[in-house]
Amino acid sequence: MTLRPNSPEARDAAYHMHSYTNARALEKDGPLVLESGEGIRVTDNNGKSYIEGMAGLWSVGVGFNEKRLVDVAAAQMSKLPYYHNFTARSHGPVIDLAEKLIGMAPVPMSKVFFTNSGSEANDTIVKLIWYRSNALGKPEKKKIISRNRGYHGVTIVSASLTGLPNNHRSFDLPLPGILHTTCPHYWKEGQEGETEEQFASRCAADLDAMIQAEGPDTIAAFIGEPVMGAGGVVVPPATYWEKIQEVLAKYDILLIADEVICGFGRTGKMFGTETFGIKPDIMTMSKQLSSSYFPFSAFMMNDRVYQPIADESDKIGVLGHGYTGAAHPVGAAISLENLKIIEERGLVENAAAMGAIMRKGLDDLTGNALVGESRGVGLIAALELAAPEGMEIPVGQLGAKMSGYMMENGLISRAMGDALGFCPPMIITEAEVKELLDIVGTSLDALT
Ligand code: PLP
Repeated sequence: MTLRPNSPEARDAAYHMHSYTNARALEKDGPLVLESGEGIRVTDNNGKSYIEGMAGLWSVGVGFNEKRLVDVAAAQMSKLPYYHNFTARSHGPVIDLAEKLIGMAPVPMSKVFFTNSGSEANDTIVKLIWYRSNALGKPEKKKIISRNRGYHGVTIVSASLTGLPNNHRSFDLPLPGILHTTCPHYWKEGQEGETEEQFASRCAADLDAMIQAEGPDTIAAFIGEPVMGAGGVVVPPATYWEKIQEVLAKYDILLIADEVICGFGRTGKMFGTETFGIKPDIMTMSKQLSSSYFPFSAFMMNDRVYQPIADESDKIGVLGHGYTGAAHPVGAAISLENLKIIEERGLVENAAAMGAIMRKGLDDLTGNALVGESRGVGLIAALELAAPEGMEIPVGQLGAKMSGYMMENGLISRAMGDALGFCPPMIITEAEVKELLDIVGTSLDALT
């Protein structure tokens, strides 16, 4: 494709290096340039409107023109546009938000630490866990176990926690001391004759064996998303988390629930930990915390984590960690208002109700020759595509092809290999879910 000279597409291709994009393809084809958003839709610079079937990056829970968030941002900008929390400084929005989050926690938590992105939050968690192990006089207890296909971000540590080849290949990652155990995706990883329950037991046994092989005293923590998002929306078997937690408890290993996608309603309950009966020591939060109207993230920790860290910082005199932009008053004010909107408008309940309709519609498509599996929980789902015999599309490219058709038909989805992800804003209505499903159906028909 030749880009029109001086068009936004050509200027973008000339000056802007994108995330998660083939750089050479972008130089040639340019980007999709978005101009505005309303409700569950966004509009490009040619006036074409799309259902944002991924809520941006699994994140714009309240939709694309929530005036209340704009108003609190403007008010906070006018009052105190910036302050930090270094050296014992604070401000109203962050105090209110910390108190609110601790109050919302599904298991007892004692403190909130603020960061700017999910990656930074997970990076910081690992640093604090290392600090804690040193404080406890266990300097060898530093390894972290994550999972194949888990997604935890892209900084050097969080990309190491991530269990996807694209985030390791050519980056010399993962770092030593970060290990990956079995992905709990029964449809792909289950063995012939194995029930889902037996598969969950095997995942727990694999974890146990890894801990034994590495030495239980060297493992500090296990990290997992309640439902894997970017790894292809992997919903674990019903008893998976119970069995994993039994293993962790045996060896005194901390559990980090990465709620960056699941948190604040996505799985049909306020937190993914509630949906799956997880009792974490640490919870990572971002995305729907501010509905991505501001780069903002945080994690909560319980006393088991916090107390040794506080003792150590008292001994050393300072906790030598923090980010200039973290605990930002504008981000905190937006997040507080966003949480109020989620609660007042019953968006968690709406995600559960609309999610059931969306998943039923996607399940109904499993009769289509291209669909291998339909999976999901709450308002997050995926269709796993599988090319039928005779179709000449290489493995791994079917998702991108179908996502392209859907885009032409006015729906933004996310291709993850041959899986197509759906995670629309939580304000979606039944009529809009049906519209989304119609586009999925029509696009599948176009390829079969
Ligand atoms: N953790 C999970 C579960 C995520 O899905 C993501 C991003 O998609 C991250 C962490 C990283 O967040 P960020 O992109 O804000 O660094």
